Amino acid sequence: MKYVYFFSKDQSDGDAKMKELLGGKGANLAEMASLGLPVPPGFTCTTEACDKYYKLGKTKLFASLKPEIDAALKRLEKATGKTFGVGPNPLLLSVRSGAAVSMPGMMDTVLNLGLTPATIKALIESSGNERFVMDSYRRFIQMFGNVVMGVDHHAFEYELEAVKKAKRAKLDTDLSVAGLVEVIERYKAVYKKATGKAFPTSPMEQLYAGIDAVFRSWNTPRAEKYRQLNDIRGLLGTAVNVQTMVFGNSGENSATGVAFTRDPSTGDNKYFYGEYLVNAQGEDVVAGIRTPQEITLKGSRAWAKSQGVSEGERKANFPSLEEVMPKAFKQLDAIRVKLEKRYKDMQDLEFTIENGSLYILQTRNGKRTAQAAVRIATDLAKEKLISEKQAVLRVDPASLDQLLHPVFVKASEDKAQQIAVGLPASPGAATGQVVFTAEDAEAWAAKGRRVILCRTETSPEDIGGMDAANGILTSRGGMTSHAAVVARGMGRCCVAGVGDVNINYKTKRFTCSGVTIKEGDWISLNGSKGFVYKGQIDTVDPSLTGPFGTIMKLADKYRKLGVRTNADTPHDAAVAVKFGAEGIGLCRTEHMFFEGSRIVSFRRLILVAETVKRLREAHGIVDLAALQKACGKDAKAVEAIKQYRQALRELLPLQRKDFAGIFKALKGRPCTVRLLDPPLHEFLPQDAAGQKEMAETMGVKPIEIKRLVEALHEFNPMLGHRGCRLGITYPEVTEMQTRAICEAAVAVKGSKPEIMIPLVGHVKELANQKAIVERTIADVEQKKGVKLNVLIGTMIEVPRAAVTADEIAKEAEFFSFGTNDLTQMGCGFSRDDAGKFLGDYVEMGVYEYDPFQVLDQDGVGKLLSMACELGRKARPDIKLGICGEHGGEPKSVAFCHKVGLDYVSCSPYRVPIARLSAAQAAIRG
Ligand code: ADP
Ligand code: MG
Ligand code: MG
Repeated sequence: MKYVYFFSKDQSDGDAKMKELLGGKGANLAEMASLGLPVPPGFTCTTEACDKYYKLGKTKLFASLKPEIDAALKRLEKATGKTFGVGPNPLLLSVRSGAAVSMPGMMDTVLNLGLTPATIKALIESSGNERFVMDSYRRFIQMFGNVVMGVDHHAFEYELEAVKKAKRAKLDTDLSVAGLVEVIERYKAVYKKATGKAFPTSPMEQLYAGIDAVFRSWNTPRAEKYRQLNDIRGLLGTAVNVQTMVFGNSGENSATGVAFTRDPSTGDNKYFYGEYLVNAQGEDVVAGIRTPQEITLKGSRAWAKSQGVSEGERKANFPSLEEVMPKAFKQLDAIRVKLEKRYKDMQDLEFTIENGSLYILQTRNGKRTAQAAVRIATDLAKEKLISEKQAVLRVDPASLDQLLHPVFVKASEDKAQQIAVGLPASPGAATGQVVFTAEDAEAWAAKGRRVILCRTETSPEDIGGMDAANGILTSRGGMTSHAAVVARGMGRCCVAGVGDVNINYKTKRFTCSGVTIKEGDWISLNGSKGFVYKGQIDTVDPSLTGPFGTIMKLADKYRKLGVRTNADTPHDAAVAVKFGAEGIGLCRTEHMFFEGSRIVSFRRLILVAETVKRLREAHGIVDLAALQKACGKDAKAVEAIKQYRQALRELLPLQRKDFAGIFKALKGRPCTVRLLDPPLHEFLPQDAAGQKEMAETMGVKPIEIKRLVEALHEFNPMLGHRGCRLGITYPEVTEMQTRAICEAAVAVKGSKPEIMIPLVGHVKELANQKAIVERTIADVEQKKGVKLNVLIGTMIEVPRAAVTADEIAKEAEFFSFGTNDLTQMGCGFSRDDAGKFLGDYVEMGVYEYDPFQVLDQDGVGKLLSMACELGRKARPDIKLGICGEHGGEPKSVAFCHKVGLDYVSCSPYRVPIARLSAAQAAIRG
């Protein structure tokens, strides 16, 4: 097995396609070297070596690695004309990690490796710059000590600060040789104290310790955590890049910097976005020790304007690279174009300038916001660098969520009083009244108020309040704090770690920049920038045109799957239509029994339902009017039947109005309506106070309500008296709902209702309900003198239904897969209880993902595809869709495409995600 791949301008063993083996960094270094870009030569130890490091152990691996490294070092010495570990022209190296997927900041780099007393002397002679050599050495001790030996970097920084203070040096660059020598002495002492050993003076020992440290870093808790958080799986390990050093810290004609070929936050391509520092090394630019400078003049001027820096001061203290080193800048700008042409994507690159000569140290596809991703993909397609299909594949569907939320009206935001800045933890804009507990957030939101939840930090028990809030502010915690991660997951705007905010839970207020904000006061958050404002700021809905519109249009061009939405109200339906929904795939009707006065009518029905059922059985009469007559003088019985009929009469027009509203919002798009589904006890008050109140309204004794609640109690409501089972027991409810739907369809021209019978397990259940529905449709048609075209179908959510789908398809014109219940019943765990073990299951790899979020393709998916096949056999033109949570989840959508469903249906805000996911699935084939 070949473990070491060499790269140089004359010859590279690898290329950009070998990311799995060489890591992203190594593969791109090889590629750039082959392209003729100025890349310092070096070699890459493969990810397979890392894998073997863990499988065989360090000693065994290093034994087989050594001959290859020796040979590569020889080649490197030849390519550079320098020698490792000896003068007169010593070769210094960087040791850099790099996995196939970029994991920024997860594994650290060691620079200037190979400095020893002998090479230091030689380098001072050859460079004639003692300061630069000493600066390199102190950096090396710190990086080697920290990265390789695990010495706390604070211990080093403490000494550096102490010497700087003593020498009255403001910046690192102000330190003289003597100062640096003192830092080095102190660093060595820190090293010795922490490790018990003297700092190594053998270059080979340094090199192997460096390689070992990179391999080791692959399995540190923070690296594992990062992979877990970002769902990075199936990699062999990290590669190790050993590369010739170039020195940005060798004087005023040297520099180091980072750049993006396009603006990573907006996608703009107006100028070259990047920063640099003169006489600096490594990550000085991002470490914030000095103010980095813009690389272009344009960017520099824009920066100065935003910071209130005058042109004179800018020119004197913060000039652009374009001004300072015009030749290197021009070369860099040409490389920008070349790299984009080669990689056909926005690049994030690292460069160093050594005595005026430019070197490129890294390139990769740059990380970007969702807004930038969409903009860049559409622009690149316009520029013909990529095809339409490639543009569609470039955007992560899940990220679109960020573009669908409201933003501040710019003029109002400009006028608002900013009181603090925190981390832009979750994008969007939020305005609301301040509350300090999750409970208050929920309570206030329930009353229809907009709230901002303010906490020092959040914890899992705050989830309900976080969901209820318009926005979340925390005074502690970073981009990966609980608040940040959860808020991003919910699509809730969040500003985290606002250190200036001092929260006092007792007095329910916070102070910040001399401003006191009390509970109930209005504040506003810009989650995309991390800004906190006092007062209310107007928001506008995001623009669905521009690049977003373009990418959606392309998605629609290539997708095969239809995309519908799950919506129960005209408002949700209208939002979804705006987002591109082609109809409603699931309209739940439960709230039509709940809101306002309807609950009174429905509770009255529930109260007498049992009596009516008994009377019906006793008399053997189904028709209610006939039954009422038959009961004759039994006043109680007659009253019960009357009440039952009265309740239905009250509900009918209300539901008709609800349906008409939804049909109107749909403007002729189809609407699948699910008949009543939840068990009846969900509609009754469970607490004594509520029961008392209900008793008063109904004119009965509280004990009767209590008894009713007890009678309806179920041990396992999920598998209880619900779904079509209700319609079978109480056929009038099915009839009333059907009538409401049909009459609304008559009233709203062009409506396309589809009636869905829930929770069918046996074809006879469906046949029973279908007969009622058909009879009712015929009745409405006859009374109104119209012809209606109403599809009748069923939800497939009981495994038995999936298995007997051929039987069921004889009665059903469509199937809609209710994958929430199908997952519960298919996997055999209830959604409400699975939280206790599902997390562990996923961690242990029993299930790859939480099957309630990502469809379990091998199990539940098999039920689904089997049902499709059986269904189509019995009824070739059967319409097939999915309406569970999975309908908006990219991996599940791809599966739906594969099994050939007609459409997916998901919540309104996921409609664009589903459209794009469906297009990607179609393009990937
Ligand atoms: P990361 O993966 O964290 O970006 P890198 O391996 O890219 O780490 O190294 C960090 C920085 O170290 C680079 O941006 C570059 O400035 C510097 N660096 C790495 N290798 C060299 C080298 N051979 N010569 C000069 N600087 C280097
Ligand atoms: Mg780093
Ligand atoms: Mg880097």
